[in-house]
Amino acid sequence: MLLRFSRQIVDQPITSQIILEKKTPINILSARMNQLGGEILAEIPGDKAQEVIKAFKSKGVIVDVASLIEKDDDLCIDCGACISLCPMDALGFTEDKSVTLDAKKCNGATCGLCVDACTRRALRLLS
Ligand code: SF4
Ligand code: SF4
Repeated sequence: MLLRFSRQIVDQPITSQIILEKKTPINILSARMNQLGGEILAEIPGDKAQEVIKAFKSKGVIVDVASLIEKDDDLCIDCGACISLCPMDALGFTEDKSVTLDAKKCNGATCGLCVDACTRRALRLLS
């Protein structure tokens, strides 16, 4: 995952706090930081991924993951079965009761709960 730190939070020890709080090793592959902000490319264990991504997001870090989810609106019947499964509130109903996916909130391949839940195969992982 790619972690993006804004100027406002770049001087905070967010990564080390999350390693300690979540008792999770985070493998830093590359890092670039200065007073204007920074980016860290990191690997995290799959079983802790959702928890760790949520923790970074809650501290204001922008998290990009390699794979995201795509929704096929032609296949989707707006049944809503995927919505309650989503730990990131990335799926929801619009005012006209159609189901929408907010890709910016999605944890992508580290989660995939909705993909397995959709009997219409309207959700799929992008690689
Ligand atoms: S479970 Fe599948 S068909 Fe149902 S709302 Fe979600 S994407 Fe659409
Ligand atoms: S993969 Fe599906 S359930 Fe998981 S965060 Fe993304 S939209 Fe939500």
